[in-house]
Order: sequence, then structure tokens, then C-alpha cells
Amino acid sequence: MIVDVEKLRAGARLDVAFTKTYRIPEEYGLIGNSADARVTGHIAEEAGRYVFEAEAEASFRAECSRCLTPVRAGAAFKFRSVFATEPEKEDYDDVYPVADGKADLSAAAVSNLLIEIPVKFLCSKDCKGLCPVCGANLNDDPGHGHSPPQDA
Ligand SMILES: [Zn+2]
Ligand SMILES: [Zn+2]
Repeated sequence: MIVDVEKLRAGARLDVAFTKTYRIPEEYGLIGNSADARVTGHIAEEAGRYVFEAEAEASFRAECSRCLTPVRAGAAFKFRSVFATEPEKEDYDDVYPVADGKADLSAAAVSNLLIEIPVKFLCSKDCKGLCPVCGANLNDDPGHGHSPPQDA
């Protein structure tokens, strides 16, 4: 969502809500390399900068790190991003540029979303994973085992 922040008068505040399907870089390991996010919040003018405060809920799918079963996962988080016409390098805030009077709220949302995507996914806390010998899913076959190789 792009907001024309130049129209925000001093001290004014604008409520925003949007949903978006984001392309997520492959290294995050999501199925389809995408995530759906719903973002609600507001952007307000504060001393010549624009402060975007929002809550987001994202959903995505990935393979269980142990057994490779597709898993649905999600993240709910709050974030605060600042937009400025001339971001200062030593700024401690999460600052994004205002280009042509516009602030790209989607860009701020996705960079916060990337932080929330887990490194590992598990289908359940005690997923038993795959048999190291034959690759069978040990969750489906708890008694699974192989007898040690016999000498002929
Ligand atoms: Zn699993
Ligand atoms: Zn096996």
C-alpha cells in the first residue's frame, strides 16, 4: 500500500488497512516462496516525519524441518517504521524513504515480516522425523526399525 504522505497535514493521522501476498526470498524456505499478510495500523505526521505503527498477521507454509510434511504457520507482530524524505544515516529508527511524496507501507511491512519467519518449522513439537536408513516417516510408523546388517 502506497500512501501519499504529503497530503497529511502536521499532526494528522491516517488509518490504513491492507492485505497483500508477498513474494518471500527462497532462502526462507517457504512453500511457494510467498506469505499472505494482513496489516492494520495508522500513519501519522510527527515533526516532518511519518510514523507508521501497525499490527500484522501473516500466514505461510513450509516443510517440517524433520519429516518434510507441509506445515501451516503464521506470525502475528507489531511494528513501528518511520518514513522520512531524507533519512539520516545515524537514525536509530527503522527508517524508509519518502519518494515523490509517497510512503510504501507494504515495503515496511515485509521487511518486518521477514524478521518473524522462523528458521525452522516443526509439524509438532515431538516430530520423530524420517528414518535415516530408508526415509520412512517415523510419525506414521512409530515401531519402525531395521535389524542390523547380517554377515553372510
Ligand atoms: Zn515433522
Ligand atoms: Zn527405515
